[in-house]
Amino acid sequence: MYLVIDRGMIIIDTGLERIKEKYIEAFSEADIRMQDVNLIVVTHGHADHFSFAGEFKRMTGAPVLCHNLAITALRTGKSPEYVPREEKGKEFLELIGTLDLTPYGPVDPDLTFENEFDLAPYGISGKVIHTPGHSDCSSSVVLDSGEAFVGDMLIDSPLTGEMRLPYLASDESRLFQSYRKLLGMTEVFYGGHGTHLFKMEMLELIRKDKSPEAKKLLDEYNAEEKQGWARF
Ligand SMILES: [Zn+2]
Repeated sequence: MYLVIDRGMIIIDTGLERIKEKYIEAFSEADIRMQDVNLIVVTHGHADHFSFAGEFKRMTGAPVLCHNLAITALRTGKSPEYVPREEKGKEFLELIGTLDLTPYGPVDPDLTFENEFDLAPYGISGKVIHTPGHSDCSSSVVLDSGEAFVGDMLIDSPLTGEMRLPYLASDESRLFQSYRKLLGMTEVFYGGHGTHLFKMEMLELIRKDKSPEAKKLLDEYNAEEKQGWARF
């Protein structure tokens, strides 16, 4: 879960934690009033990202926003299919199969979008954009400052302890198209489980990925960068 504070305040994702008092305590320690939250953004329909959204909606009175394609997951509490994207992905699936990912409770989203959603009316200079690939409904919050909250497009691996690209992708090709889109507008990437990387580090992670899609993205990116330099 992230809390972004500008003129207004938004929550990004709400986690699997089930103890309401822990959230109340954290807000109180930070001297933040829950009713000052203007919007709750859910980056995608995997339960560990929206599990507590219904309770937060009740506690803050703020509307819940998600992509059109995440509506069913939030309403039913059932995550979209987890699709492994490489050999390690199967190991990862076995691991998360041992976790209780039942959401705390389903939630009815109040706001949905297809391509992008402007956050200015909620006091935040930025927008939410559709960045499919990890799941079809995956979205990212991109601030005008160049910071982006990309959900599970960037993870801390529970298998190796390292930061890396996700083990799961509903569509590998779209995943890398989404990285391409974000690389053009983002300087800092905040992952879905509390870590962040600068753009150069993100490019390095993509370079380490062995998929042909990663190589294609880097070739395109480097060619465009070269063209950019040639213009000077
Ligand atoms: Zn996910």
